[in-house]
Amino acid sequence: AEPRLVVVRATRISTRLTLLVMRDITEHERVEQMRRDFVANTSHELKTPVGAVSLLAEAIESAADDPPQVRIFAERLLAEAGRLSNLTARIMSLSRLQSGDVINAQRDVSIDEVVAGAIEAHALQADAASITIARGGERGLYVRGDAQILSEAVGNLISNAIVYSARDTNVGVGIRVNESVVEIAVTDRGIGIAEGDQARVFERFYRADPARARRTGGSGLGLAIVKHAIQLHGGEVTLWSRPGRGSTFTIRLPQIAAPVHEAPGKQRKK
Ligand code: ADP
Repeated sequence: AEPRLVVVRATRISTRLTLLVMRDITEHERVEQMRRDFVANTSHELKTPVGAVSLLAEAIESAADDPPQVRIFAERLLAEAGRLSNLTARIMSLSRLQSGDVINAQRDVSIDEVVAGAIEAHALQADAASITIARGGERGLYVRGDAQILSEAVGNLISNAIVYSARDTNVGVGIRVNESVVEIAVTDRGIGIAEGDQARVFERFYRADPARARRTGGSGLGLAIVKHAIQLHGGEVTLWSRPGRGSTFTIRLPQIAAPVHEAPGKQRKK
């Protein structure tokens, strides 16, 4: 990495002479700083659910003589523990992506399979919200990378589209290719995102509406995971949204040619 010189202190010695104290922020330092921030944010975010779990455990202990009450607290404890386990899984996912060396299995990846997998993984969630997921656009497109990571990224967008929409609405997943760039657009007719929040929603732990996000079990990490996953694949993710109208998140990835199948009879399973 190229050393970057930054001024940390400027002292005016005379009208013609200023003493500049310079320091070079190397890539290593930048990464180290990011890691420290990540640990600090994460510890902060874990405090609330961990605190809730202890409180509920104490409540169960002191309600021991009141079985119906114990049951209520136990249910809440389970829900809180589930949320905590979700959060830690996401933290691990993001930290692996941020370290940048996760794509050890670079393969030819079928966008059809990535999208089908992501939709399938959220079928129950969509059903519960009475939301229909409609897949449209081109087929037979390929990119290079890790199918699992890409599927998780598309899945996070689908999950958000469901969470931030009203019941009985549609979520669209549209695929197209434009000048050798594959576009996967996830569109909802949900609450939308205010202009001031649009640039920030990709930051880890940022929530446009913290109260609502907590109620829906949000971790504030979904979009940070999407961003890092797509950047690792040499792509980008952008957002169009209008409050009250809905949002479209678009993933763009470099297209590769469809792989040539091996000898007949030895064709890859689809
Ligand atoms: P969360 O787990 O809170 O959903 P994300 O990183 O996935 O975390 O999203 C960050 C924030 O961006 C959310 O809290 C929400 O405010 C906003 N957001 C994300 N997706 C959508 C969407 N499809 N519609 C409206 N708001 C969204």
